[in-house]
Amino acid sequence: MLDDLYNKKIECPVCMSQFEATKVRTKAIKVASRDADFCVYYEGTNPMFYDIQVCENCGYAASSDKFEQLGDSDRKKIKENISPRWNKRSFAGERNIDAAIETFKLALLNLHVRNAKNSEKARICLRIAWMYRLKKDEKEKEFLQFTLNCYKEIYEKERLPADKLDEVTCMYMIAELNRRVGNFDESVKWFSRMISSPEARKNASLLEKARDQFQLAKDQNTD
Ligand SMILES: [Zn+2]
Repeated sequence: MLDDLYNKKIECPVCMSQFEATKVRTKAIKVASRDADFCVYYEGTNPMFYDIQVCENCGYAASSDKFEQLGDSDRKKIKENISPRWNKRSFAGERNIDAAIETFKLALLNLHVRNAKNSEKARICLRIAWMYRLKKDEKEKEFLQFTLNCYKEIYEKERLPADKLDEVTCMYMIAELNRRVGNFDESVKWFSRMISSPEARKNASLLEKARDQFQLAKDQNTD
């Protein structure tokens, strides 16, 4: 295994069995750059590839920081809908991008079964899109569109802030994702709405980013 990686024993909160999860050493994480939709590029090992923990025994999969956060009804839903169809396999050790995408799709399936919040689904779908971007795979757009649909539902139906997502960031993401899937009209509309909202003034760096992306969307709209 790479020096950047180490294994940690985890107890599954669904089936209570133990499994090995592979983690990236903090000192090995070096950020190279960021895209306007917050996709991060790394020098060397990409920690995103190791974010999802998958229980090899029952198929429960979730982000490492949310792995313990599930209620009794979630446990029941996973036991009834995921575990019976699960072919036991381990995701420990080095993960290539395809294995990483597989783990995120498992996490997404778990969220669907649990009827989880859109904010959680958006987070996972967006990361799947980013991995397809790294692969230069057209499927990126499909997952950006799923993410966009989640953000629109959040904006319309959920109370914000939720799960670290505030209203201004939600508007920004709707604008930027519309731009990335080619809905330039919608993108311009949402950027202008976001920039003129009083809340945006509290987040100077995001506002500055929004102004750049707004100009880009306007240019693309007239192309
Ligand atoms: Zn389990």
